[in-house]
Amino acid sequence: VLRLEKLDRFYGELKVLEGVDFSIGRGEVVALLGPSGSGKSSLLHVAGLLEEPTSGEVYINGRATSMLNDAERTRLRRDTLGFVYQFHHLQPEFTALGNVSLPQLIAGHSQKQADIRSTSILTNLGLGERLQHQPAQLSGGEKQRVAVARALANEPSLLLADEPTGNLDVETSGRVFDALLAIVQERGLAALIATHDRALAARMDRVVAIKDRRLVPVEIDESTVTILGE
Ligand code: ATP
Ligand code: MG
Repeated sequence: VLRLEKLDRFYGELKVLEGVDFSIGRGEVVALLGPSGSGKSSLLHVAGLLEEPTSGEVYINGRATSMLNDAERTRLRRDTLGFVYQFHHLQPEFTALGNVSLPQLIAGHSQKQADIRSTSILTNLGLGERLQHQPAQLSGGEKQRVAVARALANEPSLLLADEPTGNLDVETSGRVFDALLAIVQERGLAALIATHDRALAARMDRVVAIKDRRLVPVEIDESTVTILGE
């Protein structure tokens, strides 16, 4: 579903990612660990076609993306990728329902179709009673769940989530994460989920970490994290 090849991401002199080779197969849920500033958001933005790599290639469903023009890139992103931002980025003037329907309307669905699907996803995520609330009227965990619902609205084949439960208490974070994982697994989606939470990471199929500007496999058991190859 996703393959990164010889990927570099530099900001001027600052080399954040260098020579990253990595792939995710169908239905695979992968945790992305790494300290603050290690490049998790940078990696997700490049994989999500929100930013271009400095060099290297991003393949989505086998298709190289570097030679796509803006319109093709936007369409591929809309049709195959779901993105949950580190800071939820909801539209403040829209309701929860409106935020989830928006990407579907852009994709050409009717208002009615979009609202039916949005209602179903939001209800699945426990927000059936919050459809008409605006972001400012929602708690942090509820906003995060709306952001998850929005990312899933167009039935992507790959979900990229940047600390989707980052600023929530442990219990709420666990609940949002359960809901997310249930939908991802039920639909057989591939997902790459950045998190600082090792307990959450341990529940995914595979764990990788950013180390020395590259992605390395990690093994987690309960309290210890072993970076393989050390
Ligand atoms: P966190 O866990 O705090 O979210 P992160 O792992 O997501 O951190 P990134 O946001 O990817 O880290 O940032 C990686 C490095 O790149 C940091 O040193 C950051 O300061 C730098 N950086 C990120 N975006 C830019 C930018 N637009 N211009 C310059 N430097 C940037
Ligand atoms: Mg980040």
